[in-house]
Amino acid sequence: MAAQPSIFARIAAGEIPCQKVFENDLLLAFLDVNPLAEGHTLVIPKRAVERLGDLTAQEAAEFGRQIPLLARRIMTATGAPACNILQNDGRAAGQEVPHVHFHIIPRREGDGLGFRWKPQARSREELEALAARIQSLP
Ligand code: 5GP
Repeated sequence: MAAQPSIFARIAAGEIPCQKVFENDLLLAFLDVNPLAEGHTLVIPKRAVERLGDLTAQEAAEFGRQIPLLARRIMTATGAPACNILQNDGRAAGQEVPHVHFHIIPRREGDGLGFRWKPQARSREELEALAARIQSLP
């Protein structure tokens, strides 16, 4: 049985309304329904794709082209001086909707949003071995 279309696939198909901020042949951007900050925007491929690595090169390039332009417009519109751009790729990384999406989240000094980074010390040898392994993969 085919999987149910995700909420974002239904938004892309126009079945569910959204507050659209940008659209072209490949991508759609709309305001997050539960924003972390005013102007919190989601950018999705129109094609139903769950993981970042499943994007075509053309879709990936289009994200690269459009996200900087969208971020600039969103900061201008909201007056925010900064933004976070993030993409939760997979459930363990916090992805709740199984359709690729980039968050553009306007940020201001003292806005209280934050990240729980817990850096871990690693030896240079470990880092070099891992970097070499990643480089060797297709
Ligand atoms: P994730 O945790 O998957 O990276 O983020 C999912 C995001 O989608 C959340 O920020 C959530 O508020 C947003 N979201 C979930 N359902 C809807 C919806 O129906 N409409 C809109 N505009 N945003 C949604």
